[in-house]
Amino acid sequence: METAAREFQIMVKTVGAICNLDCHYCYYLQKEELYPKGTNFRLDDETLERYIEQHIKATPGEIVSFSWHGGEPTLVGVEFFRKAVALQKKHLPENKKIINGIQTNGTTIDDEWCEFLAKENFYIGLSLDGPKELHDHYRVTKGQKPTHKQVVQAFQMLRRAKVHVDLLCVVHDVNVKFPTQVYRYMKEIGGQYLQFLPLVEKTGDPNNPVHKRSVPSAAALHLPRDLRRRAGDRAQRRLLFLRPLRRTGVQDRQHLRTIHRRNGRGPKAARLRPKEMDQSAQVLPRVRSAEHVQRRLPQGSHHQNP
Ligand code: SF4
Repeated sequence: METAAREFQIMVKTVGAICNLDCHYCYYLQKEELYPKGTNFRLDDETLERYIEQHIKATPGEIVSFSWHGGEPTLVGVEFFRKAVALQKKHLPENKKIINGIQTNGTTIDDEWCEFLAKENFYIGLSLDGPKELHDHYRVTKGQKPTHKQVVQAFQMLRRAKVHVDLLCVVHDVNVKFPTQVYRYMKEIGGQYLQFLPLVEKTGDPNNPVHKRSVPSAAALHLPRDLRRRAGDRAQRRLLFLRPLRRTGVQDRQHLRTIHRRNGRGPKAARLRPKEMDQSAQVLPRVRSAEHVQRRLPQGSHHQNP
């Protein structure tokens, strides 16, 4: 009889939905309104220790992953994480190992953070939506000020400190039109591990349920069969997702076949091939297998909110 895998992942919201930014597409900030005014969202010490102890005990494998999320999880301050690491060490049995991952917007990262994150081998997911004009389109402060400069500075500081950083790019209606520029930019600044998270935002209006900031459906066409075969798991498919067609007006694969037939090309020619795809598919050479991707992804970066 087959048994279900017992591996699971918990996102720890150190400050609930509290964040210092006001990204236009953030679905999470409003969660603050679900609580009474004046609520202290900071995870208290007693709950923190109970959680750490129980999470270690409940993890069946050798690796215990801690995923610190928000809001902006670093708003609790570096001391909170020093305490968390000390508690992890206190409760860790000899046969287990701990991996910590933080998803951050990068705006609070300074030398003290870098030193701590490097020393404790944290994996960082850093939200960056591409070059300045694309990133700043939606990722702004509470005062609607741009954040790109701070995020790139944080990235460079983390890299200098030799902290493992994944760049997480939310793919929305604007940057989806510039996949090559986004990809090249990420590479130019030294990004080695990239993740692309398609934005699908609700409006709450039953007649028009998907917000226009969402990634357009044309970008979510099915992958060609050979790529799908390689895309063995969810993580890898996410890397392959950013594949908007350059041919504007193509709605789906069936539509594309119709266009090819109309242009006198046979059904074979109508199959999408990698070289016909947008250059953003250059991410592919890095992807050797599903296991390869899993190894590369920081344990804490299966993001719910960027
Ligand atoms: S998307 Fe992330 S960084 Fe932006 S406001 Fe929401 S929680 Fe903060």
